[in-house]
Amino acid sequence: MLLLSTLLIACSGGSKKYASVDEYPVYDGNDLELTYSPSGSKFRVWSPAADEVKLLLFDNGSEGSAYEMKDMKRAKNGTWTATVDGDLKGKFYTFQVKIGEQWLDETPGMWVKAVGINGKRAAIIDFKETNPEGWENDKHVLPENVTDAVIYEVHMRDFSISPTSGIKNKGKFLAFTEKGTKNSAGQATGIDHLKELGITHVHLLPSYDFASIDESKLEENKYNWGYDPQNYNVPEGSYSTDPANPVSRIKEFKQMVQSLHKEGIGVIMDVVYNHTYVGENSHLNLLVPGYFYRFNEDGTWSDASGCGNETASDRAMMRKFIVESVVYWAKEYHVDGFRFDLMGIHDIETMNAVRAALDKVDPRIIIYGEGWTAAASPLGEDKRALKKNVSQLNGIAVFSDDIRDALKGNWTNDFPGFVAGRDSLENAVKFAVAASTDFPGVTNKKLVHTDKPYATQPTQIINYVSCHDDMCLVDKLRSRKPAGATEAEIQKFNKLAQTVVFTAQGIPFIFAGEEVYRDKKGVNNTYQSPDSINQINWDNKTIYNDIFTYYQGLIALRKEHPAFRMTDLEMMKKHLKFIELNVPNVVAFTLSDNANGDSWKNILVIYNGNRKNVSVDLPEGEWNVVVHDGKISPNDPLFAVKNPRFVVGASSASVMWE
Ligand code: CA
Repeated sequence: MLLLSTLLIACSGGSKKYASVDEYPVYDGNDLELTYSPSGSKFRVWSPAADEVKLLLFDNGSEGSAYEMKDMKRAKNGTWTATVDGDLKGKFYTFQVKIGEQWLDETPGMWVKAVGINGKRAAIIDFKETNPEGWENDKHVLPENVTDAVIYEVHMRDFSISPTSGIKNKGKFLAFTEKGTKNSAGQATGIDHLKELGITHVHLLPSYDFASIDESKLEENKYNWGYDPQNYNVPEGSYSTDPANPVSRIKEFKQMVQSLHKEGIGVIMDVVYNHTYVGENSHLNLLVPGYFYRFNEDGTWSDASGCGNETASDRAMMRKFIVESVVYWAKEYHVDGFRFDLMGIHDIETMNAVRAALDKVDPRIIIYGEGWTAAASPLGEDKRALKKNVSQLNGIAVFSDDIRDALKGNWTNDFPGFVAGRDSLENAVKFAVAASTDFPGVTNKKLVHTDKPYATQPTQIINYVSCHDDMCLVDKLRSRKPAGATEAEIQKFNKLAQTVVFTAQGIPFIFAGEEVYRDKKGVNNTYQSPDSINQINWDNKTIYNDIFTYYQGLIALRKEHPAFRMTDLEMMKKHLKFIELNVPNVVAFTLSDNANGDSWKNILVIYNGNRKNVSVDLPEGEWNVVVHDGKISPNDPLFAVKNPRFVVGASSASVMWE
């Protein structure tokens, strides 16, 4: 292990002429680490403060010692180069950096695009061999407006590992290529299920190469969410059918993307550039100690991620790395969007650079992130991509923890939320409907986690009620149920919560399996719980078919009616109006005058958070009711009603149009 004192000496010029890492020259070429061709391979490592750098070549991806070691030569802008003649395809390599008198551990580098098992050695492959048949015709699946997206967050194992999935490639990228799979009752699972549900984009939990699963011991069937990045530009090996074959994970990831694209479903990746699994011995830090991370004034590692370290996106080469990494996934793997974990650790300038670079690939590529950190960061709040700074981010959305916790209950206490009858949350629900913007009819009182609006456009907000974090929706609703609430009521709470998500302005997001009423046996933060807790039991689709068809109806309603997907605040101000029905715990609004080109002239939405029916006076008109008391029928009204008196069912929503 490299001791911190050594690191500081190196950084402060003990071995090199730099007074600090901020003085390191920046290398702006696009040939870092490996440029392969059958006639020869060129290597270039950026490590300005190194005293020596070695290239080690291997026959095997994990075992045996190097068959050749080469001293790399100092080159421009802090880089070191070496050239090896002949075809190195099938070989593996690492770099080793010497600082002062100390040789650091080997690293496959940070720009590495293919690896051996467990990602310790870089692999030399011919990328042409990783393209599935027809890959050249594969196209991005992107929404015209980001508010058109319906995002489905899923973990690779949750999706397919249950025996009830009927899927052969359980826990693998290839699970997404299997069609015609069914649960025990013969209902569609897998990709057919996604199509049936109607979501537009899957958001994959970490699928880059992470460290917490031993890829050589897959028979152990260990589970991890994967928020422990090791190699950012390589898919995770345990999700491939052969982690020891460097081509396998790359090709199979592409097959997954291709298969989803064929069904018109886009792919969003969860990217975790904010920290690395280990700090001192990370593949980044073994190249350039101290450079890629932030430190406290006393020289200790800062830890805004809560995982032991935080990266420094504000440093030129880290920024370059993040920007080029997402562009690489977008171009090489045809990824359609990125979800930035703890985006509040990254600086605003980097996130806007990410947007600008992805715009050159396709401006419709989706970007959103968590606008918060897990702990304090030494970089000033005004510089970071926090929720409250979202208006300074170009074309990037943040998760609204305000809607999430207004609906299901604040994570900082044990009270239920609006959907389970908790009072005084009407304003917070209105704030959610208005996409967390400064909006007429919404005050700044009791907005749950914020004291004032932060979004300036609906395109900046992800609306959701649960994700992989914390308890899943069913468990949370059960754990906080008000006294005497029955399971039938919990189901109503569940439907009401998602009705708000899908009828609110912004971008809707659900956690996989919620549509089949999944639970996780009450376990909180299941990041390393076994499959038995995390798997989606696809027989739930039959057991809770009423829930499934309701979610399906909500998605269809939203997709067919652009009024729920307005594209800017001006449009919202013209068409969205909150109305007062004078009943506590009831929120109502109209979307009037064919909002956003909707075929329905006027739409009325009423949410009843009370655990009892309430009578309200409807605005004037003859209304066609399409959502009522836990039933939904977007195309064929359930019934028609004339004003004034109308009874809204307990813990449910009514949606009607004229
Ligand atoms: Ca791995």
